[in-house]
Amino acid sequence: MNGIDSKCVHGGYTPKNGEPRQIPIYQSTTFKYDSSDAMGALFDLEASGYFYTRLQNPTNDLVAAQLTELEGGIAGMLTSSGQAANFFAVFNICEAGDHFISSSSIYGGTFNLFGVTMKKMGIECTFVDPEASYEDIAKEIRPNTKLIFGETISNPVCAVLDFEKFAKVAHDNGIPFIVDNTFATPVNCRPIEHGADIVTHSTTKYLDGHASGVGGAIIDSGNFDWMEYADKFPGLCTPDESYHGITYAEKFGKGAYITKATVQLMRDLGSIQAPQNAYYLHLGIESLHVRMARHCENALKLAKFLESDERVAWVNYPGLESNSSYERAKKYMPKGTCGVMCFGIKGDRATTVKFMDSLKLISIVTHVADAKSCVLHPASHTHRQLSDEQLVEAGVKPDLIRFSVGIEDADDLIADIKQALDQI
Ligand SMILES: *Cc1c(COP(=O)(O)O)cnc(C)c1O
Repeated sequence: MNGIDSKCVHGGYTPKNGEPRQIPIYQSTTFKYDSSDAMGALFDLEASGYFYTRLQNPTNDLVAAQLTELEGGIAGMLTSSGQAANFFAVFNICEAGDHFISSSSIYGGTFNLFGVTMKKMGIECTFVDPEASYEDIAKEIRPNTKLIFGETISNPVCAVLDFEKFAKVAHDNGIPFIVDNTFATPVNCRPIEHGADIVTHSTTKYLDGHASGVGGAIIDSGNFDWMEYADKFPGLCTPDESYHGITYAEKFGKGAYITKATVQLMRDLGSIQAPQNAYYLHLGIESLHVRMARHCENALKLAKFLESDERVAWVNYPGLESNSSYERAKKYMPKGTCGVMCFGIKGDRATTVKFMDSLKLISIVTHVADAKSCVLHPASHTHRQLSDEQLVEAGVKPDLIRFSVGIEDADDLIADIKQALDQI
């Protein structure tokens, strides 16, 4: 089974004779053992098995295995949210006193996590302009820099990541490259094929696809050799006192990163995805390839329509030939990017608000990337405390409307936008 579409339908789970066709939901906090020694071996990490759902659950692991297959990795795990996934992905490598580099064009929640909350934990992040040169990014590397982070297609401004450049800076300096692949999904882009060592997801978006469950995922390529740079990664390459002194990179080899994140971070921080949500996620993934193709097809039609209407000031969609990310999008995502775009309409804030309030089929919600089309106006919603000047500083134009194109009839979506533009 090599095709990505088949992996969406069948990945991670092959029922044996008489077993359930659909993945079972293991709605159990705990797992029973016949002997005290059998359970003790699990706590010593001498045997693998389930004992408590705060660390691991079989339903979650089936879905994590599917995402691992889709991304072309060797191990994966689910987390309770995309925020938890990005936090775990970084915190599994960095500790107090460490530093890392991130593209500045990333999701606002991740920007706060890296720039404010992790700073309070003694971990410092330098944000770099994603279009900065190799040399300018490499200049930010310090002796304590432990990783580089970026998003395949950034939320909300839809900038496409220069994988080659970022991966080269990371690998020339002996550190891993982490990529949040939420918007592209493995159907349209597999970051590991372009040099990413670790891939993260907010599964809340296209993977779930129906606005039903918040969740996240981390997938390890197994390509980064921690032991080669052992002095940089003591968390993986020196004994963990909380497990009688085992060394993850020695004992688990290529599985070290996900094992550590599971048995240490999940154990201590407990941000597991509910098995019920993992089941919903799995239902979503079964149709991911069909939905992504339709999201992209619809988005391109809508982007072209918006570009052609004189009441629209600008459109930013990497699938448009006029877009500055077009060539890069074609290189890394030949099948299409995603259904999210941004645009602005001529007029002031009040015009934008009037336009949005006039939409009927397209709803105003704080969400993106599900079957139902929706819009959000950061200046009125997520960033409403900022002045126009502060918005520009934050890289968000005051007139920016984030538009997530769903899988309805494109003609109905165009008609809805037309009638709303007629109201302004
Ligand atoms: C939404 C989002 C997140 C955060 O995910 P949650 O599931 O909402 O916690 C992280 N990265 C990107 C690119 C996102 O779009």
